[in-house]
Amino acid sequence: MNLLDYLPGVPDFPKPGILFRDISPLLANPTAFQEAILRLERLAEEFNYTHILGIESRGFIFGAALAHHTHKGFALARKPNKLPLASHRESYGLEYGSDALEIAQSSLPLGSRVLIVDDVLATGGTIVAASKLLEKAGFKVAGALTLLEIFGLNGGQLLTDTGIVNKTVLI
Ligand code: 5GP
Repeated sequence: MNLLDYLPGVPDFPKPGILFRDISPLLANPTAFQEAILRLERLAEEFNYTHILGIESRGFIFGAALAHHTHKGFALARKPNKLPLASHRESYGLEYGSDALEIAQSSLPLGSRVLIVDDVLATGGTIVAASKLLEKAGFKVAGALTLLEIFGLNGGQLLTDTGIVNKTVLI
C-alpha cells in the first residue's frame, strides 16, 4: 500500500506557494490509517522511550494512537494558553509564519525519556521547539518520529544537526 496516495498535496495552503499535504484522506481510510500506525510502531521500536509527546494538533492523532498501541504514556505539546498547568513555553518559526508550544512539566514523571511524534516534518522548527521544551522541563528527548518528511526542506538534517535522532515513515 502506498500511503502517499492518501496524503494528497493541496496547493497554496495555508499561503500561496505552499503545497500542503492533507492527512484527512489517510485518516478516513481505515486500512491506510492502521497501516500508518503499524509503520510508526515499527520505527518506534528503534527508540528507547517511556512516553510520547504529541504536537498539537495532528501530532495528537498519530501520537495518541501510537501510545495506545505501544502501551506508553502520552503528553500534550499545546498551542499557547490551552494547558491549565503549562510550565514552559517555546516560540518557533514555521514555513508559513510563527507559533509557540507549551507543556505542563507536572504531566510527566521525573526521568521520562520522551519520543516526540508529529504528522509532518517540514523545516524541523516545530520539533526543535518541542525538544527544547522537554529539555527545559528536565526531560530526556529520546528522538522524533513523523509520518511524512517534506522532501527538500531539510527538516531531518536540521534535527540531526541539532542532535535529535529522527525517523520518518515516508519522504
Ligand atoms: P516545521 O516546523 O517542520 O516546518 O512544520 C511542521 C509542523 O507544521 C507540523 O506540526 C505539521 O503538522 C505542520 N505542517 C507543515 N507542513 C505541513 C503539511 O504539508 N501538511 C501537514 N499536514 N502539516 C504540515
